Amino acid sequence: MSTSRRDFVARLSAFGLALAGLPRFPVLLRPRFAANPFTLGVASGDPGPDGVVLWSRLAPDPLNGGGMTPEAVNVRWEVATDDAMRNVVRRGTVSARPDLGHSIHAEVEGLRPASWYWYRFDVGGESSPVGRTRTAPANDSRPDRYRFAFASCQHYENGLYTAHEHLAREDVELVAFLGDYIYESAGNPNATAGAVARPHQPWEPMSLEQYRNRYALYKGDPALQAAHAAFPWVVTWDDHEVDNNYAGDVAQDSVPRDAFLTRRAAAYQAYYEHQPLRKASIPRGPDMLLYRTIGAGQLARFHVLDTRQYRSDQSCGDGNKPACPAWSDPSRVMLGDTQERWLTRGVDQSQARWNILAQQIAFSRVPDPNRPQYHAMDPWSGYPAARDRLLAWMAERQQRNMVVLTGDIHAAFVMNVVRDALQPESATIATEFIATSITSGRDGFDRWGQLRDYETTVPNMKYHNARRGYVTCELTPTQWRSDYRMVPYVMRPGAPVETVASYVVQDGKPGAEKV
Ligand code: FE
Ligand code: CA
Repeated sequence: MSTSRRDFVARLSAFGLALAGLPRFPVLLRPRFAANPFTLGVASGDPGPDGVVLWSRLAPDPLNGGGMTPEAVNVRWEVATDDAMRNVVRRGTVSARPDLGHSIHAEVEGLRPASWYWYRFDVGGESSPVGRTRTAPANDSRPDRYRFAFASCQHYENGLYTAHEHLAREDVELVAFLGDYIYESAGNPNATAGAVARPHQPWEPMSLEQYRNRYALYKGDPALQAAHAAFPWVVTWDDHEVDNNYAGDVAQDSVPRDAFLTRRAAAYQAYYEHQPLRKASIPRGPDMLLYRTIGAGQLARFHVLDTRQYRSDQSCGDGNKPACPAWSDPSRVMLGDTQERWLTRGVDQSQARWNILAQQIAFSRVPDPNRPQYHAMDPWSGYPAARDRLLAWMAERQQRNMVVLTGDIHAAFVMNVVRDALQPESATIATEFIATSITSGRDGFDRWGQLRDYETTVPNMKYHNARRGYVTCELTPTQWRSDYRMVPYVMRPGAPVETVASYVVQDGKPGAEKV
């Protein structure tokens, strides 16, 4: 397009001015692509009662920076009430900006609550695949049933996305993804045959372009694209979107703070560029607002947490360790003061029957009966003062039906959240469902060796399994039900899915019961 490109370049039109404060770019008026630019699929997210965010990214050469020239491009979007896109009810144009990787975030309004819609993007004679999305129930409505799924941890090298193939066919209204969407490790070209299902690029991302190329590798997967195209997603991150076990402004390895924050800024920006997030989450340097609430009428409210950006560093050198003095230092935080106040106020003001804490890391203590003095230093167990503060607050609010959803540990657990995390026999005050991973940990196995007798050794652990999959949840005003949906293998294709365990929570009675 270089010969006459200048003829088609104009100053940024009104479409781009919505993002006040961001720089202006010339606009490519008649874009032409060597290949369809929608290689990364489509997605939608953060549904409200009257609208949703529609996402895609123009990337005709996805694994090599995207393949776009440095102008902005105006992309048309349409929303219809049918999958053939005949009855279009909303349409508009959004700017795909070069400084945001030509990502597309169209915030659609004016839709009806609790309704399915289909959407598509068009630019330069090319069309995206059609995606399906669903608006949230009206804020004052009282749905008698609401279904969603949650999942986490999809290491690309550790397996195929068979679980996403099954997830895309589930009867749910929303997917919550709780972190480790990408992994930052470098692919090892000398890995033993059979150890890697499919390789990462042979580098660890540091720059924005490298993070973009890592997202492009993941988002090129057809099963992941199908799961995004089937439902709106609500996402939050864990550590691997940036760097294993980073904490706030502290890297895993000893890296100067400024250098790590430069890397964090690149990683956060790439995260924003590849997720269906609202404008409030546009990153500002190394900072990005990710905690937020998503409603489901008077039946449920998701309090989506960020347990990485504001936390204190791990104590005792991270890992699984006996406690050292810093472990119980009351000044160490997980959510940070601002987010903690936002959470407690949000739950206190919520009218919802079920208050969902959608977050990344194990809230309950998952003990090792062989090493009872050890604590995992990265999850909440490594931040006992911060956890105790929340437990004391939760204990006063058992009627708020708090349910904690968790990712991170690549194994499934159902935990009764107890008043004293170190005393598994203490009173149950809430319930925690820990998803296993989509792939991380490869095929997996039935249970961790140290938990072979968990039924008798860990009284508040109601279920454990270390295979791959996700969880579907069905909420009614009187009962929460979680079904653990598992695939027996991910290192080769074609695994079936089955429900291996189902647990319910009754309204007003914290704790899980086996179905
Ligand atoms: Fe993980
Ligand atoms: Ca993690």
